Amino acid sequence: MADYVRTLFLHPPSFQGFDGGAGSRYQARREVRSFWYPTWLAQPAALVPGSRLVDAPPAGLALEDVAPLARDYELAVLHTSTPSFAYDVRVAEALKLANPGLRIGLVGAHVAVQREAALAASRALDFVCGSEFDFTIQEVAQGRPLHSIPGLSYRVNGGLRRTGERLPLENMDALPFVVDVYHRDLVVEQYFIGYLLHPYVSLYTGRGCRSKCTFCLWPQTVGGQRYRTRSVEHVVAEIARARRLFPQVREYFFDDDTFTDDLPRAEAIARGLGGLGVTWSCNAKANVPCATLKVLKDNGLRLLLVGYESGSQAILNNIKKGLRVERARQFTEQAKALGIKIHGTFIMGLPGETRETIEATIRFAQEIDPDTLQVSLAAPYPGTALYREALEHGWLAEGDLVDGRGVQTAVIGYPHLPRTEIFAAVEQFYRRFYFRPRKIFAMASEMVRDPAMGRRRLKEGLEFLRFLSRRREAPAAT
Ligand code: SF4
Repeated sequence: MADYVRTLFLHPPSFQGFDGGAGSRYQARREVRSFWYPTWLAQPAALVPGSRLVDAPPAGLALEDVAPLARDYELAVLHTSTPSFAYDVRVAEALKLANPGLRIGLVGAHVAVQREAALAASRALDFVCGSEFDFTIQEVAQGRPLHSIPGLSYRVNGGLRRTGERLPLENMDALPFVVDVYHRDLVVEQYFIGYLLHPYVSLYTGRGCRSKCTFCLWPQTVGGQRYRTRSVEHVVAEIARARRLFPQVREYFFDDDTFTDDLPRAEAIARGLGGLGVTWSCNAKANVPCATLKVLKDNGLRLLLVGYESGSQAILNNIKKGLRVERARQFTEQAKALGIKIHGTFIMGLPGETRETIEATIRFAQEIDPDTLQVSLAAPYPGTALYREALEHGWLAEGDLVDGRGVQTAVIGYPHLPRTEIFAAVEQFYRRFYFRPRKIFAMASEMVRDPAMGRRRLKEGLEFLRFLSRRREAPAAT
């Protein structure tokens, strides 16, 4: 076995309650405290024997807690994002100060699309990685010279150099299980997502998405616009192992961009999971045929996370969603008839948004009535078609994607629809969806049926109201 340098994988501390880990697609402080697993870091960590993964925000670790760790390691790999980049660089500088001999690299979509610019941000950074960095990091950790490792940019003699591109990984089964890293380094009870049972575990069974939505970050930056998958057996074996490692876990979540992109495979995995008797959930596009939904449901599927984005067909066309509103409506009816829960996600402020489309989307959400929903603001991340489009049309305001507290800001505005209105539409949407008698009754019934869930919902409800009221004070609203 090759020798490895002592390697720390770190999701750095940033804003209080910031869900910005190496598993969060759109980094921001959520309405209720939420944390995704740092899976993008766990994957290379699984390839580097003796490494350690530290996920600072869920563990409640601040800069002063993580900086001393630098002295125990020779290599630190930090996951970063557009909203947290400036903070993450500060963390890198603090690590370097604590151990000037520490080699520090950044990974994540933000640096993958602008390697040299990212590297130039601070002399504390020794290298940054391109899109698919698992084996790049493994080779760095093996002590190979940086110039011989494809897929990175690095600092040398005061200059910046770039190596050749690394080809996308085709044999996805080459990635070892992440659940062993979770078990070694993380505390599953620290991870919450409002619509998932607690504790939950999430992981990926593949990378990339076949759709071409213009706003969507990962397929356009780190995952690619085709679905590269692990074998059914590999996935089912990992869940079987997870069950032994985490008997307390109540739900598994497949956080692939679109787990239902390959229907026969999704059905085959479901059948394997059915044999294990686990409860599971996944991301889905709102076009899964009823027959497939039935197979998934019969084999333990509890919930689908569905990106509806908008109730306006014109907007769905503008963002290249590849979906008809009518199909989304039919899909939702069928899923609900089968007893599948739905968490729907919507976006305010996408190209083509008007007061009328905001109204249409709110009414659409009320009509299809997912069990829970999340409303976000259009977030033009560098590397996406939406970012380029917003720049080209002058829609982009000065400022960051999140404010000084990590709360999402409206950075896209239109001559006919100012950013203030788009920002305000999010709260309006939430209020008109949740503060309806039928929704309040449904939540109250759930609380009576399951008192433990009732206590959780009450806590989350209060958090949600506090979030809305703090959000109104945000400078971003102006
Ligand atoms: S279908 Fe979902 S995951 Fe795929 S590109 Fe569109 S938004 Fe992204």
